[in-house]
Amino acid sequence: MYDNNQDQISQVRRLCHQLCSSSCVEQKRQGLHEALLSQRPHWSVLKREEQYGQISWGEKIPFDIALPLPARDSREESGKGVKLFWERFRCQHCGRCCYTPGAGLFLEEEDFERIARFLGSKKKLKALCKYDKALDAWVLRQPCPFYDEDKMECKIYEIRPLTCTKYPLHPPLQEMPYNLALDAFCPAARQLAKDTLGWWIICENNWASILRRLTRDRK
Ligand code: SF4
Ligand code: SF4
Repeated sequence: MYDNNQDQISQVRRLCHQLCSSSCVEQKRQGLHEALLSQRPHWSVLKREEQYGQISWGEKIPFDIALPLPARDSREESGKGVKLFWERFRCQHCGRCCYTPGAGLFLEEEDFERIARFLGSKKKLKALCKYDKALDAWVLRQPCPFYDEDKMECKIYEIRPLTCTKYPLHPPLQEMPYNLALDAFCPAARQLAKDTLGWWIICENNWASILRRLTRDRK
């Protein structure tokens, strides 16, 4: 029974990503969730405080927050979810993502080449990095040496690593292919997750209609 349900849920999620990606983004952009929420209670309203509390935990124990938006895939039109995210996201310029001590910031090969060129030599960049054998890549030491604490800005903003240009977006987890994942350590990401709790009502509506369709097709 459990496996059956899990299968069905995975199928709905896959179909949701394949079929609804554009329409649900448009529905969210138009604020359809507000109209739906005024018609009937939903957990995103009833359990708002509880949800806010859970999201706020990310301040202390970073984790990924699932945002109900389709993630980009190989289809051309699938970037709409990411686009809507950037339309709504407002960085608070707190600098936490840059000066937080941590495991280090992974550099793609092209990042390494570009930043080394800017510094004038690979040796200078290597002095700011450590080599990660497991990743087979250079990682910038944290707190990031390029963060200017006085000005509260990135000294290499125009040529910053790719990871920095995407933050706080994380690649979606395998088990939630239709979602975007946000780093809960970022206060602006937590705020956006709180502001968009109501978006779930749109997802649930769409999932319900996909489920109805699946059940009809099976008969
Ligand atoms: S942690 Fe988030 S809000 Fe703070 S600077 Fe980084 S992206 Fe902006
Ligand atoms: S390279 Fe710039 S944006 Fe990236 S972590 Fe360092 S200071 Fe922040």
